[in-house]
Amino acid sequence: MENFLRMDRIPHIWCPTCGIGVTVNCFAQALERCGIPLDDLAVVSGIGCTGRVAGYVKVDSFHTTHGRAIPFATGMKLANPKLKVVVFSGDGDLIAIGGNHLMHAARRNIDITVICVNNFNYAMTGGQVAPTTPRDSVLTTSPYGNFEGSFNLPHLTESIGAVYIARWTALHIHRLTDSIVEALNKPGFSFVEILAPCPTIFERRNKFGDGLDRLKYYYENSEIVHGADPRDADIELRGRIIVGTFINRDRPTYLESMNKHLKSHLGKAFNIYEG
Ligand code: SF4
Repeated sequence: MENFLRMDRIPHIWCPTCGIGVTVNCFAQALERCGIPLDDLAVVSGIGCTGRVAGYVKVDSFHTTHGRAIPFATGMKLANPKLKVVVFSGDGDLIAIGGNHLMHAARRNIDITVICVNNFNYAMTGGQVAPTTPRDSVLTTSPYGNFEGSFNLPHLTESIGAVYIARWTALHIHRLTDSIVEALNKPGFSFVEILAPCPTIFERRNKFGDGLDRLKYYYENSEIVHGADPRDADIELRGRIIVGTFINRDRPTYLESMNKHLKSHLGKAFNIYEG
């Protein structure tokens, strides 16, 4: 891990038994295995507790403004198509403020990997309800329980065009690492959701205990179903959690489509764009 982290920035800001550190560890293991040279890889994060990941990893990394990690990554990828660009951020950043960017990057099949740590709330700003907060959850803005519906991220990303979609929890470290390797090596828009404990806010307010208690909960309530219909992957506050690889399909990336389309219209006048 020390080769992968900016050790001069340690200790990190994450609370004891927060799940974000586990996800960073899995990401580091995946990078060792995926065969992508670290000089050819960049990590982009937005704002929030998970958004701090970009500051701790010893690769080219960018801590961008709230919700803008995906457009920033899209620009990098289009400017230098040989680069592997990974967006590593939280549910508030990627799905709420950045939801519109997520939608269009997936629709276009931009060749990036998005790793979303979902802890069901806006943790860094004190625990407000987020678009992923399960119904009935108690948070600072829902003292009587959340009454809004929440996004099912595998279903959402499947419907907007992602070519690879997996969900794991911070307990499933080996399977999660395998999924990150698959996502990194998959051409097109790949999406990995990781359910991770936020013991300071979400677990405490909803009386789940600390991070270890939450891992025990994942152990007892997760069901691995590869190829499950994403519509069945809703998360309830105290319900069963479907994890696994939901989608692994192929379609042309944005640049493949662009090159093919313009070549067919312009012929010799068009040079294939390679950055
Ligand atoms: S507030 Fe929650 S998500 Fe943020 S570092 Fe603490 S435990 Fe982790």
